[in-house]
Amino acid sequence: MVDVTVRADLALRGVRVAAPVVRSKGAGPTDDGHVVVDGVAMALPLAADSPWSIVDGLLFHDEDPVDGLGMVAAVDRPAFYDLATAEGVPYEQLARLHGSTVLATTVVQTCIRYGVDTRCRFCAIEESLAAGSTTRVKTPAQLAEVAEAAVRLDGITQLVMTSGTSAAADRGARYLARCAGAVHEAVPHLPIQVQCEPPADPFTVFRDLRDNGVTAIGIHIEALDQAVRERWTPGKAEVSIAEYEHAWQEAVRVFGWNRVSTYVLVGLGEDPDELVAGCARLVDMGVYPFVVPFRPIEGTLAVAEGATAPSPDVLVDVTGRVASLLQAAGMSGADQGAGCAACGACSALSVVGG
Ligand code: SF4
Repeated sequence: MVDVTVRADLALRGVRVAAPVVRSKGAGPTDDGHVVVDGVAMALPLAADSPWSIVDGLLFHDEDPVDGLGMVAAVDRPAFYDLATAEGVPYEQLARLHGSTVLATTVVQTCIRYGVDTRCRFCAIEESLAAGSTTRVKTPAQLAEVAEAAVRLDGITQLVMTSGTSAAADRGARYLARCAGAVHEAVPHLPIQVQCEPPADPFTVFRDLRDNGVTAIGIHIEALDQAVRERWTPGKAEVSIAEYEHAWQEAVRVFGWNRVSTYVLVGLGEDPDELVAGCARLVDMGVYPFVVPFRPIEGTLAVAEGATAPSPDVLVDVTGRVASLLQAAGMSGADQGAGCAACGACSALSVVGG
């Protein structure tokens, strides 16, 4: 198993490797190449100046191979990327491979928060649309078609569906339910996680999602300190922390304990002790805090504003303390069934027992 200090350094400094599976721009805080290190999927920045490299199945630091690891390799390009719908839309524009077994899609590639003053500083959801690498809206039928092919051809084991936030009271969750329903009908055994902001009437909306085959839900707050939220996620910060707590609680009622998660970003300036204390409250609620390092990614305001990633020491410290909380509660990411915590590739938690 990779040591957590190595995992943190890889997350922050990246790796030199030719990675055929890359997620460029897009929703949320990650923008990485996908590799597998000793059986653990990792999403890592591809950085030409990193001291880390992957060559011939080994991980190197400068010229020195790291001993004691199993196979290290970039994830191969999946076969479903070479297919297209009857209308000629490449499947690759509709959903992407994450890690080696996760299919991920952004069902609506626009977001009401994407104004310059309101967007999340780490997000580039509309940049991949502007670059022509994805479509504005994926239809339920398209997603069912791609999911069926990805399961059949590439052994996909779960689907993550996120969305930009809509102006409607459900914030886009009802459309996620329609998409999930179509996928569930096509591949009934495929676990599905959806990600959305807290909707109005969360219990009813979440039940609709569950009835359409959704296994788990991510309701991502990213920062647990209101002042940090207002700086980093000014649009989303208009939704109060109390509304998030209510949505998490209702989600646990519907999906169950450890079937609900939230991203918590390390490196936005939040006090580490307060961040860990906030994660402890989430764990008490049955909500998995998916702790991920902030990395400045191309196309985001954070890059334009000169933001930098956290120090490895802070990342290792926070990740270790949150992993201890999760272990004490008996919560594992894998038990989410689907979603980012089940995948684990964007976090160092998976190498310290989270
Ligand atoms: S943790 Fe989430 S965003 Fe990261 S690779 Fe896995 S599914 Fe994708």
